[in-house]
Order: sequence, then structure tokens, then C-alpha cells
Amino acid sequence: MNIPRITLIGAGPGDVELITLKGIKAIKTADVILYDALANEELLEYAKPTTQLVYVGKRLGKYVYTQEEINYKVVQLALQYGHVVRLKGGDPFVFGRGFEEIEYARAFNIHCEVISGVTSAIAAPASVGIPVTTRGYAESFWVITGTTKTGSLSKDIELAAQSSATVVILMGMSKLSQVCDLFSQHGKANTPVAIVQNGTKENARYVLGTIDDIQYKSKVEELSNPAVIVIGEVVSLHPEFVKEYVTSGKWTNQNEGWT
Ligand code: SAH
Repeated sequence: MNIPRITLIGAGPGDVELITLKGIKAIKTADVILYDALANEELLEYAKPTTQLVYVGKRLGKYVYTQEEINYKVVQLALQYGHVVRLKGGDPFVFGRGFEEIEYARAFNIHCEVISGVTSAIAAPASVGIPVTTRGYAESFWVITGTTKTGSLSKDIELAAQSSATVVILMGMSKLSQVCDLFSQHGKANTPVAIVQNGTKENARYVLGTIDDIQYKSKVEELSNPAVIVIGEVVSLHPEFVKEYVTSGKWTNQNEGWT
């Protein structure tokens, strides 16, 4: 009888090579793998041929299992088969509901391990050359969800809009107009914005703009989920932003760091 245990793994943002070595090693010893839509399926090739693979993401836009059902399933499969790997997109503790699964399993005295992953919050902007912090441009960054439990816009976005930090919004595409309104209300209509869809993947796409024109641009390019919205002066470092906005004189930076 295999000893029940659970390993929660961050699969990284999409590029199959952006998982940790530790994550791959855990996949290789899994008896069962439960994986989400955002975890790259190519990673399953590292599993033993006998490993059971269970997809628990969305199908036709709808969740196959509720979070409660997943919590239960993870425990039940660990008790029955031994080593269960829970493979999640990005980092499992960044809006992945990973902690809820761990908490549930611990109540059954099942040993749980967490293996961090590369989060899309940092990797998606980085994949198009945008740093979340840079001297003279941003001293900090916020990672905020666009979709809260209640469905309303997170109050943190309003607080972040008043700071000089880089603001990275996940799950925020359906709230883009509300986000832009909020930034405009705080005198940030001119702040640079990037939207990166499927960052680090072959089908990656992105648009650059400002709070003023990003909605229009992202509509023209038909950008949709999964995408991160990056708001802040760091976006102005992108060569295409420089060409379209800075060189043309459409945009000037009030930031001291600008040279
Ligand atoms: N734990 C994940 C986030 C899960 S929430 C992480 O750390 O990355 C799901 C949201 O993540 C998506 O709606 C989208 O905003 C973002 N996301 C995940 N993968 C992405 C990718 N490859 N490119 C852009 N955004 C991505």
C-alpha cells in the first residue's frame, strides 16, 4: 500500500520548460495527477505510463468539478492510490486556490508538499520584455485579482491606482473598462498599459497602450483570457511603446527615472 501524500505543483505560466526541476521529479513519481486547464498538458509526458491523469479544469466554459469536489477527490485518490500530484498553472499559491486544497487534505492528516512555480504575474510581462520593477520606474508591484468572490472589483485596485507601483491584474479582462475608469478617475489616463495573452506560449499575443486607449486596442486585437493586464511606467520601457508613443511625442514621462 502506497503512503498517501499530496504534492501541489506550480506548472509555470505555459512554456513547458518553465516548470521547476523539483516539479518534474514529483510528476515522475505520481500515482495520480489532477491537472487544471492552465497547466501545460505536455508536462504529463513526464509521468509514468501507469499514472492516472484526471482533468479538473473547465470544459466548454464550465467547470467539470466544483472546488469542493476537487478538494475531496484529491484526498480520496491519495488514500486510495498514494502519491497525488495537483498540477496548477503558474504558482499554486497565486490565485490558484491551492491553499484550500492543502488545508482540506491536512484535516485528514495527509502529508502535503508545495512546489512553487513561475507565476504568470511576472513571467507574462517578462516574456514580452516588460520588467515588473526597475530602478527609477517602479519600486514595487501589486498582483491583484480582477475577479473577487463577490464579483465586484477588488478595492485593492483602487488603492493600487493611487500608488506609483506596477499593477498586475489577473483574471481581469472582463473588468477592463471598470479598471480603466478607476485609473482615469485617479488622474492616470496617461499611464502605460500592456495586456499579454497566453504569455510564454507559442500563441502569445500582446497589446501596448495607455489607460485611455487600451480598451479600444485590445478589442481590435480581440485579446481575451488568459491574459494579464500590466499598468505602470515600466510598460513605457518596451521598444514598441517608445516608438509609438514616446518618439512620436504622444506620451511624455513625468518620471524622474526617464532618460
Ligand atoms: N496561479 C496562476 C494564476 C491563476 S489565476 C499564476 O500564478 O499564474 C488565472 C489567471 O492567470 C488568468 O485569468 C490570467 O489572468 C493569468 N494567466 C495564467 N497564465 C497566463 C499566461 N500564460 N498568460 C497570461 N496570463 C495568464
